[in-house]
Amino acid sequence: MSRLIEQGFVKIRRQNDYEKVGKVICVGRNYTEHIKELGNETPKQPLIFLKPDSAIVNSGSKVTIPSFSENCHHEVEIALVISHKCKSLELAEVPEYLLGIGIAVDLTLRDVQKRAKERGLPWAIAKGFDGACPISEIVPIENIDLENIDFNLKVNGEERQNGNSKFMIWDCLALVKYASEMFTLNRGDVILTGTPKGVSQILKGDFVQAEIPGVVELDFSLDSQGINLLVHKV
Ligand code: ZN
Repeated sequence: MSRLIEQGFVKIRRQNDYEKVGKVICVGRNYTEHIKELGNETPKQPLIFLKPDSAIVNSGSKVTIPSFSENCHHEVEIALVISHKCKSLELAEVPEYLLGIGIAVDLTLRDVQKRAKERGLPWAIAKGFDGACPISEIVPIENIDLENIDFNLKVNGEERQNGNSKFMIWDCLALVKYASEMFTLNRGDVILTGTPKGVSQILKGDFVQAEIPGVVELDFSLDSQGINLLVHKV
């Protein structure tokens, strides 16, 4: 099987090889304008949730929206990958523990998440289904100003989201520091840094592209449950 569609691996451009992903640590509500559009409150600490490694797919993949959801949203996010085991990092130590940076999409079943929120239940399925985290190649951070990264997302060629890391409530280094205080981080762990405003529904058949312009690109398409079931039967 081609690694293109294999789950749970991320391509490291410098090594021209794939790295097994461990846990995917996601940060919710890290951009003020996005907090407003969903009517949420600004958290006092980073809001953390996890996706399983099986959510990770690479550029060029087809992602199936689960049959129990009718409202899948895109959330484009800057992704950071950890290079070595670490715990309780100081801010100044964080860069030496970063294997690199890429762009990812935190696919979210908004209807499933809404029902879970209303009942005080976890978001795990709304955020962690197979393919819920398409991710680009990962490149080194050396020539990148982490506090001024432009990124965007297009659906069928039309821009739906664009953002810049300077508008983060907690910046990239602060998020990795915080994550390392909560969890031991291991090589291949991925940290998603939150989404800017502009989240919206995507439908089967849609073609999604995300990029840090001039640095990394990602694309994937949305498949229908029916087509995938047919393929499995053949
Ligand atoms: Zn998100």
